[in-house]
Amino acid sequence: MSDSHIAETGRHPADAPASEALFDRAKAIVPGGVNSPVRAFRAVGGTPRFMVRGEGPWMFDADGRRYVDLVCSWGPLLLGHAHPEVIAAVQAAAAKGTSFGTPTPGEVELAEEMVARTGVGAIRLVNSGTEATMSAIRLARGFTGRSKIVKFAGCYHGHVDALLAAAGSGVATLALPDSPGVTGASAAETIVVPYNDIAAVEEAFTKNPDIAAVIAEAAPGNMGVIKPKSGFNRQLAEIAHRHGALLIVDEVMTGFRLSRNGWTGLDPVDADLFTYGKVMGGGLPAAAFGGRADVMEKLAPAGPVYQAGTLSGNPLACAAGLTTLRLADDALYRKLDATAETIGGLATKALSEAGVPHRLSTAGSMFSIFFTDAEVTDYASAKTQDGDAFKAFFHEMLALGVYLPPSAFESWFVSGAIDDEALEIIAAALPQAARAAAASQRG
Ligand code: PLP
Repeated sequence: MSDSHIAETGRHPADAPASEALFDRAKAIVPGGVNSPVRAFRAVGGTPRFMVRGEGPWMFDADGRRYVDLVCSWGPLLLGHAHPEVIAAVQAAAAKGTSFGTPTPGEVELAEEMVARTGVGAIRLVNSGTEATMSAIRLARGFTGRSKIVKFAGCYHGHVDALLAAAGSGVATLALPDSPGVTGASAAETIVVPYNDIAAVEEAFTKNPDIAAVIAEAAPGNMGVIKPKSGFNRQLAEIAHRHGALLIVDEVMTGFRLSRNGWTGLDPVDADLFTYGKVMGGGLPAAAFGGRADVMEKLAPAGPVYQAGTLSGNPLACAAGLTTLRLADDALYRKLDATAETIGGLATKALSEAGVPHRLSTAGSMFSIFFTDAEVTDYASAKTQDGDAFKAFFHEMLALGVYLPPSAFESWFVSGAIDDEALEIIAAALPQAARAAAASQRG
């Protein structure tokens, strides 16, 4: 498939008939037409593009249009789409059988690679990031014999009941359900505090003796990218440990993406448990939690805390993940950092020249742009941004062949496959998108 629309007219047509038809069919039988909400373009409007193929830095939609992919399946595709060695490993694994319900060598190899990179004492493989955080929380509760969890407003850890909680009426008071279907009882096990606010964490512990764990994204990417203040994660560990609680650092998004280890490879922290996902599955469903050997020993069948999964450690997912990790060497991480810096720099220049207030916010090679003047350190400040400006910016980038996350509260992800051609397309699109954002603000 070629990029004929862009070559001929400089932009994709405004409509996308094949995606529109597929979306109509999907909406008739799938709630909202999608299998995960952010895919539906609700934050930016319009029709989500149905993708049919990926290759390196590119995705191709059902209308035959090509996009530079700056979402990378929300993080997993560190090497870009359909990397030949990953595909070969998955094909070889599939040819030997797709699932056994027994231990397999690939699980051991993937776990060994992850332990070597992270230094965790033990690891358990699961299928999704949600499962990883849910299980880590159960384990923390089982280990400490306590029930409450501290989480941060704007941090997302999957759709675990107790974590779909919104701050209560005051800082450090018990949370309220953030979705119908989450019971008051499970939200009341959670205390939601502002991100980067150590005093609020101290207060939560002072008011609540029954805290099992603090859970934090290693560097948040789910309210846009927000870097933890210097020493923040280490202070969380210190406070949690002083009070006999555990620290769970969620590296589902950042793990094996920001360094050979994750964010904590750049900013080490003495956490008790870590959760992983995304990159470690190489684009197939795999996730994990791991940490202190004495805590992990409490997990069934070694210990009494129950956790299980029919497809956990699936051979295809392990093959994709292991191959991805083995190809993720220092040179790749240097390239990801350089690519992110280039794109972030181009975006900043374009928005500055167009006069659009913005903040480029980075954590290693993850970054996002907040369309605001305000310094962004937590969810409240992230929400000061101009959603309409992002919307205009997003749609112009899409029309010009660059696929950004369809929400201003998400990270942009780069892959090692981004090449000069892809960078040229991004560089050409950004000034036009910045002018579209400026126009939306004027009017
Ligand atoms: N934790 C973090 C930090 C995430 O970003 C996500 C998903 O984006 C999850 C957990 C949940 O992972 P999954 O979508 O695989 O359930």
